[in-house]
Amino acid sequence: MLNIVLFGPPGAGKGTQSEKIIEKYQLTHLSTGDLFRKHLGEGTELGKLARKYMDEGRLVPDEVVIGMVDDKIANTPNTNGFIFDGFPRTVAQAEALDKLMQKNNSGISVMIALEVEEEVLKQRIRERGKTSGRADDQDEEKIATRIGVYLDETLPVAGYYEKQGKLSKVNGVGTIEGIFQDICNVIDRY
Ligand code: ADP
Repeated sequence: MLNIVLFGPPGAGKGTQSEKIIEKYQLTHLSTGDLFRKHLGEGTELGKLARKYMDEGRLVPDEVVIGMVDDKIANTPNTNGFIFDGFPRTVAQAEALDKLMQKNNSGISVMIALEVEEEVLKQRIRERGKTSGRADDQDEEKIATRIGVYLDETLPVAGYYEKQGKLSKVNGVGTIEGIFQDICNVIDRY
């Protein structure tokens, strides 16, 4: 199995690149942001719980996220592998993911970290906000909160994978195709 963690700040292009990666490598996309938005849309209990955190640009509690991911993995038999997008976002989530993978006799192959500077991120998120309908994309304070949470809580996750020799950095500024090519060059080593 090829299991990839696609990592980067909000607005780095994880969703866009994920779509291209799953098509080429036939992987299962597991985006915790997308899963939460689906729950929100369906009005489930999980969706109601997650909403208040998401609306404020804060992280949903680890145990809630981990339970949801466990569920999704358990309900996806016979896959070539997963691309984790927007997860893990804390070191506790990364540890939990390792355990979940072990339980399935598998492991994380590589973390690909998209690097984009803060001003470019903010600009991209504002642009996306014009069409995405996402409340968290349309408010300067929420955008700033999400980038702050990323720097404080999520960036250490890169260190977690670096210690395991699994971190590969890719420049997230350029054309969609050019960035995709750089990502493929990393994946093809595994
Ligand atoms: P972004 O564009 O900020 O990367 P996502 O679509 O990945 O957005 O996530 C939107 C929101 O969903 C986050 O701001 C957070 O509230 C919640 N969320 C998504 N994934 C996680 C996670 N792994 N842990 C905690 N909260 C999460």
